Amino acid sequence: MRLVFIGPPGIGKGTYAKAISQKFGIPHISTGDIFREEIAKGTELGRKVREYVEKGLLVPDEIVIEVVRQRLSQPDCAKGFILDGFPRTLRQAEVLDSELGGIDLAILFYAPLEVIIERVSGRRICPKCGAIYHIKFMPPKNDEICDRCGTKLIQREDDKPEVVRRRYEVYLQTFEPVIRYYREKGKLVEIFAGRRAEEVIADVERVLREKGLVKE
Ligand SMILES: [Zn+2]
Repeated sequence: MRLVFIGPPGIGKGTYAKAISQKFGIPHISTGDIFREEIAKGTELGRKVREYVEKGLLVPDEIVIEVVRQRLSQPDCAKGFILDGFPRTLRQAEVLDSELGGIDLAILFYAPLEVIIERVSGRRICPKCGAIYHIKFMPPKNDEICDRCGTKLIQREDDKPEVVRRRYEVYLQTFEPVIRYYREKGKLVEIFAGRRAEEVIADVERVLREKGLVKE
């Protein structure tokens, strides 16, 4: 079961990927996570990637493709995988097909921007103990104060509405060619993600069964 997950920041893609990964025993491969780990560890790859990330530039195709090539050759990918954050250019999608064995299905998660903004911009975190709240869906007992440790909650920079809006626009521009590529190949399935995570995950499982990727 070789899958690609596509969706804007804040859509909950990581949550869905984790659930499907656990359920079917295939690794969730996020190129963003790999790059963050390599940067944190100070490896040669990390140093290379960091130059681009710090300048706000896309990491060049050749670097990203090499990272994915190595990751997909690991034994845990034998049964399949979920790619997240890759491919993000047409060239990456083409190389994935021509040199890396291709995929069975690309799943596009979508929801109106306003829904994503409501979800993400209500998020508050405790800077001390890391507890996560939502002012509407999971509020703390006392306004903006952590239940566990009494610290004043904060909003992460990435969760601010104007940042969410900008990242959504960048996402649309970036992924449009990749989405079109999979749609034209008949490999794209679109799943509405403006609802509870359990419902979205159940829908993904239904699609995987319908496509014959899961035997039950
Ligand atoms: Zn706390």
